[in-house]
Amino acid sequence: MTSALVVGGGPNGLAAAALLARAGLEVTLLEASDEVGGGTRSHEALVPGLLHDHCSAIHPMAVTSPALRALDLERHGLRWLLPEIDCVHPLDDGDAGVLMRSVEDTARLLGADGDRYRALLGPSVRNWDALAQDVMGPLLRMPSHPLLLARFGLPTTLPAAALAKLFTTERARALWAGVAAHAYRPLNRPLTSAIGLGILAAGHTAGWAVAEGGSQSIARAMEKVLLENGGTIHTGVRVTDHRQLPPADVTLLDLDPGQTLAIYGDRLPGPVRSAYRRFRRGPGAYKVDLAVEGGIPWTDADARRAGTVHLGGTFAEIARAEREVSAGRMPERPFVLVGQQYLADPGRSVGDVHPVWTYAHVPYGYDGDATGAILAQLERFAPGVRERVLGMEVTRPADFAAANPNFAGGDILTGAKTVPQLVFGARPALDPYATGLPGVFLCSAATPPGPGAHGMCGAGAAASALRHLGMRTDLLAA
Ligand SMILES: Cc1cc2nc3c(=O)[nH]c(=O)nc-3n(C[C@H](O)[C@H](O)[C@H](O)COP(=O)(O)OP(=O)(O)OC[C@H]3O[C@@H](n4cnc5c(N)ncnc54)[C@H](O)[C@@H]3O)c2cc1C
Repeated sequence: MTSALVVGGGPNGLAAAALLARAGLEVTLLEASDEVGGGTRSHEALVPGLLHDHCSAIHPMAVTSPALRALDLERHGLRWLLPEIDCVHPLDDGDAGVLMRSVEDTARLLGADGDRYRALLGPSVRNWDALAQDVMGPLLRMPSHPLLLARFGLPTTLPAAALAKLFTTERARALWAGVAAHAYRPLNRPLTSAIGLGILAAGHTAGWAVAEGGSQSIARAMEKVLLENGGTIHTGVRVTDHRQLPPADVTLLDLDPGQTLAIYGDRLPGPVRSAYRRFRRGPGAYKVDLAVEGGIPWTDADARRAGTVHLGGTFAEIARAEREVSAGRMPERPFVLVGQQYLADPGRSVGDVHPVWTYAHVPYGYDGDATGAILAQLERFAPGVRERVLGMEVTRPADFAAANPNFAGGDILTGAKTVPQLVFGARPALDPYATGLPGVFLCSAATPPGPGAHGMCGAGAAASALRHLGMRTDLLAA
């Protein structure tokens, strides 16, 4: 039987492993931690029974992911739940940008900018299911829908700051800034619209969904598919040297280029080694999980019903904060993301005590204290919140890195989303998953289409592995 070895059980490693097992390969997965899931895990903390997402929380890209759909995870226990309102971006003057499920409702709430928003997103949203395979795959290949892709792709090449000029109201500009800031880049750089437009189009197609029972349910469903198809999982195995690896026909690494370099060293071709050494890291995340009695007392009523709240004020303020963190300086008022997953999934709360997920964009490897800055951003839009906080759990950049070297320096995107790294991943090559070693592929978020719990990097690498083996890639389809 043809065998595959997968190192690392994050959402991409799991997707690759489950897809290859279902395609008939004998799959073994090695995971350093004592459970699989990587950035898609959940844990109880602060109050017995209170469920927090360790990393990924909100999943517009995962719900529409062709890879996760092909795995039919709903049949394996995954249930997506939707908040009433997808995302709110409050402003100091009491106004707020509000992202509703439909383009139409969002456009209506954007008032004077509604028509422009509709024109920007409408066509991509109508065709997202067809587009997703092209947008969420390697870019250097024949697209299945070239015209649709060209229409979607043109605005993605723009800096987010240029696209913001479409809008005349601060409400729309700030809403756009918060979504575009998911790229973790200064908003005046080319292609900084790409991630934001992808999130918006996917979100308007299927919502900013959370997984019932925590993001761990996504990993558990993939684990079930893998085991059901004869796969084997070994946890507690940290791979540091290629000599630790059992022989396999193909090996897929859910690892960053730095670890790949350390594991294979001189066995990698020289140009690949140089490219992996040059691989650029992005800024870091500083996370504070909160137990909040009665929920956050947002001034904006819509924010009390939203699964996600973006804090950072106006477009200009967020652009400044993102510029600062990219330059290695901690801004006084960082961009902060707030997740209120319990609104869609009330089972995560304990009575009237709710788990609130927050993190700030901070410089790479930031070793200062950003807890006060996060609480100040919360207090700014929800006065009195501090009195409701029963407990806090802080995860600093160094803690992310210690738990998972893919997040070195707290860089939770597994690499800066510069133009070359966004387009090619770890190095420019026709096959972005190839490491230059025959049969060895990268499948982590360092490869296209990049970060998120969508499993599409895993699916892309699995397709490369099957091609290497001379097998049909349609074996990966549902
Ligand atoms: C705070 C935070 C918030 C986020 N929010 C969201 C969100 O809301 N929505 C979303 O879609 N995404 C979000 N993400 C991003 C998402 O979690 C990642 O992009 C995703 O987890 C990447 O998946 P992966 O499989 O490539 O790698 P990882 O999730 O990094 O998994 C890699 C796995 O490999 C294991 N491993 C590492 N090194 C070794 C080794 N040497 N040997 C063996 N095993 C090893 C690790 O333990 C881990 O299990 C967030 C991430 C963080 C940290």
